[in-house]
Formats: sequence, C-alpha cells, structure tokens
Amino acid sequence: MTEFEIIRRHFSRPARTAVLGVGDDAALLRARAGTTLAVSTDMLIVGRHFLRDADPQSLCHKALAVNLSDLAAMGADPRWAVLAIALPDAREKWIAAFARGFFRLARRFGTELVGGDTTRGPLAISITVIGELPQGLALRRDAARAGDDVWLSGATGEAALALAHLKGRVKLAGRARAQCLRRLHAPEPRVKLGRALRGLARSAIDVSDGLLADLGHIAHASGVAAELRWEDIPRARAIRECRNAALAKECLLAGGDDYELVFTAPRSKRARIAALGVSRIGAIVAGRPGVRVRDAGGRAVPVSRTGFDHFA
Ligand code: ADP
Ligand code: MG
Repeated sequence: MTEFEIIRRHFSRPARTAVLGVGDDAALLRARAGTTLAVSTDMLIVGRHFLRDADPQSLCHKALAVNLSDLAAMGADPRWAVLAIALPDAREKWIAAFARGFFRLARRFGTELVGGDTTRGPLAISITVIGELPQGLALRRDAARAGDDVWLSGATGEAALALAHLKGRVKLAGRARAQCLRRLHAPEPRVKLGRALRGLARSAIDVSDGLLADLGHIAHASGVAAELRWEDIPRARAIRECRNAALAKECLLAGGDDYELVFTAPRSKRARIAALGVSRIGAIVAGRPGVRVRDAGGRAVPVSRTGFDHFA
C-alpha cells in the first residue's frame, strides 16, 4: 500500500459538515454563527503513552477520546478532527483496526475527520479536534471564584489502578480488573456533561494527570484555593476494595487517565448540577492557590503525589 492508498482506503469519507474534507491541501470548515471555536491537540507516542503491541483499535479510540475530553472540559461540542500518524509499516489489518477505533468513537460524538498527515516513522498519533460553543460560555480554568462548590463526575483512580496492575504493583481480578482496564484503554469522554454544564459551571478541567494536579490548575489559573472533603470524594468499587490502601489513595487523588470532569460552580446552581448525577466534593476558598484535602474533623489529609508530569 502506498501512502495515498492508505489515506484513500482508511481515512477518507465523503464530507458531511465540512465544506471540503480529506483530499485537498487543506480542509474548509464553516463555523455556525454566534459560536466560538475550541481547538485542542494531544499526542501519543509509542513507548511513552502505550506499548508497540497495543491493540490498534483501542489505541486510536483513546487518542481521540483524550482529545474529545478536552473539548468536553471546555463545554464545547465536537465538530471536526485532524489525524496525523507516523507508522513503522503499512500493515493493512492493523491500519483497518486503527481506523475503526477512530470512526466508531467519532461517529458517536458527531466528529468528522477532515484531514491529517500520514508518514513513516516510530508509531505516533497526534489528533487535533475542533469544537464549537456559544460565544461567552466556555468553561475556562481561570474562572473559579471563592464560594464555588467543587464537583466531580464519576470517580477517579480506576485507570491508574489498572496501570499499577499491569506494572505488577497490585493484583486485580474478575470484574474489578475488567472495569479498571476498560477505564484505562477505552476512556469515555464526558462530552454530554460538558455541554450540560454550559451556563451552570464556572470553570472545568478534565482529569488526565490526577485529581489534585488538575484541580490545582484551576486553582492557580483562578488565583484561589480548593478544599476537598476526603470523605466526599467518590470511590469506585475497585478503589474501595483494593488491599493496598496507600496505592488506592494515590490512585484516587493523583491517578491520571480517568477523563472525568472536575469543575466549580456557584452554590445557586447546586440543585441543577446535582440532578446531573455528579458529586460535590469540596469548595473554593480565598487564599494561596493550591489544593488541600481535609477529613471530617478538619485535619489535613497528607498527600504524597498530586499527579503525573512528563518532565518531573
Ligand atoms: P499535503 O502534501 O498537501 O500535505 P498529503 O498528501 O499529506 O497532503 O495528504 C493528502 C490529503 O489527505 C490531505 O487532505 C490530508 O489532509 C489527508 N490526509 C493525510 N493523512 C490523513 C490521515 N491520516 N487522516 C485523514 N486525512 C489524511
Ligand atoms: Mg501532508
């Protein structure tokens, strides 16, 4: 297969919403009137983010999911995507499965592939997504205010627990193992929630590096402190039942890759937000930017790590 055959066979679809999609020097897109575009990109590198023998379908699912998660965290509706890939070789079956991983998820979220780049090289995937949202309603990191509630969708820690399992730090079995591995390999971006939070939440971020680290980004960007109530942080079953309590705590507070949304909102919106099925886990207060965790008695809960950093 030549480069052009790969593109034509696996990555070209007739344009649906784009003015012009795959096949020209650039795609042509038209945004809806009164909207702002949200653009985000993420790169996955073999040996860094995944292993060479990773399943191609879930690999591409994840590459797109982490990008859609960024749009969700802005409250944007996904519209278009651009896919740049470096492939070590042109294995037809591998590429077909990879493309399937992309289009299955893309279709579910109304995301149209409008272009990309295909080269030979060490396996790497970079996806750029473009979303839309009504002007002025983006959920920015710098918009939290003292007095806001802090909310979390779902529960954190399962993806990190799966990683610990794969590294031999803990042994998971049965349904807990299946559930944690699914969270790690096939994350579900919270696009619907992000959209529902427009006009309700003030600031939001997706948990990709760790709950404390990512909430810390909101705190620093907004110039406020976040206080979490230890007992109110939701625990997934695998976290609750993990024999290694220190590891479970680390996964819960500092485990990455869950792609839940952590967000802040004024108290006046409490009832409407609670109806979305998310958990209220703390509050924003005035003070030196940072995140603290306190137990029911008001004592600080010691924290060893806050999250993942590629250069730390
Ligand atoms: P150029 O030489 O102008 O960069 P390319 O030959 O790289 O064009 O790509 C040809 C067309 O195929 C372009 O429209 C490009 O956006 C698209 N394309 C290339 N690789 C991919 C891919 N992996 N997924 C989707 N579209 C792709
Ligand atoms: Mg090119």
